[in-house]
Amino acid sequence: MKIIADLHTHTLASSHAFSTITENCAVARERGIKVIALTDHAPLMPDAPHEWHAANQSVLPQTIKGVYVLKGIEADIMNTDGELDIPDYVIGKLQWIVASFHGPVFPPMSADDHFKAIENVCKNPLVDAFGHLTARGYPFDYTKAAKLFSKYDKIVELNEASLRSGASQKDTAVRLFNACKKEGVKIAVDSDAHYCERIGDFSLAYEILDEVKYPENLIISTNFDYIIDRANRNHPQAPKI
Ligand SMILES: [Zn+2]
Ligand SMILES: [Zn+2]
Repeated sequence: MKIIADLHTHTLASSHAFSTITENCAVARERGIKVIALTDHAPLMPDAPHEWHAANQSVLPQTIKGVYVLKGIEADIMNTDGELDIPDYVIGKLQWIVASFHGPVFPPMSADDHFKAIENVCKNPLVDAFGHLTARGYPFDYTKAAKLFSKYDKIVELNEASLRSGASQKDTAVRLFNACKKEGVKIAVDSDAHYCERIGDFSLAYEILDEVKYPENLIISTNFDYIIDRANRNHPQAPKI
C-alpha cells in the first residue's frame, strides 16, 4: 500500500506550528506524497491566523514543488448544532474542510453531546473529514457514529500526531476504526504535521491499520484521483483543481 496524500497539515500561520507551505511541500515531494491539504486553524483557536489567511489561499498556486495543495482549513466544531467557525465568505472558496473538536472551543461534554455534534456536522455537505476523533476526553458511541459516517459519506481521519503526542490512545483508535470498517467508512491517514519533517510520516497510524486490517480500497490516502474528484464535487464554488 502506498499513501500518496496527507490531508491535514499545518504551517507556521497556526502559531504553534513551525514550517512554511513551501517547506511542507518540499518534504512531501521527497516522500512521494502527491497531494496535501493546507489546513491551518480556524479563527476561534487561540493560535489561529486571521480569517484572511484561509480566504487568501487563492494567491497560492495549485501545485508547489510539484505537490498538489488543497486549499483548506481545520475548522472547530463550536457546539452540538455542529456549527463551524468558518466565515461565510471563506467557506465557499475552500477545497478541503476538516472538522475537529478542540478543547478551547468545544470543551469535553457528555458522550451524547459529542454524538449530537458529530451527527449535525455530518449533515453539512461542505465538510470532508473529521479530524482526530479519538482524542482523549471526547468519547461517543462509535458503532452508531460509524453508521452516520457511512450514510453521509464522511471521511474519518487516522491522525498520526494525536497518537504520537498521547492525545489519542491506540486501543481507542482500534475500537473506532473497527467500527468504521464494519460500516465501510472511508478513512484518511493524516500526519497533522506541525513541522515539515512530520509530513508523510505515518508510522504509528500504520500499526493501527495493520491491527484492524483496514481494507485498502477504503483508505482514500492511496487514491489521488478519488481525492481530486471529491474535492471538485463537494466544493463546487471553489477553484477547480
Ligand atoms: Zn486539531
Ligand atoms: Zn491539526
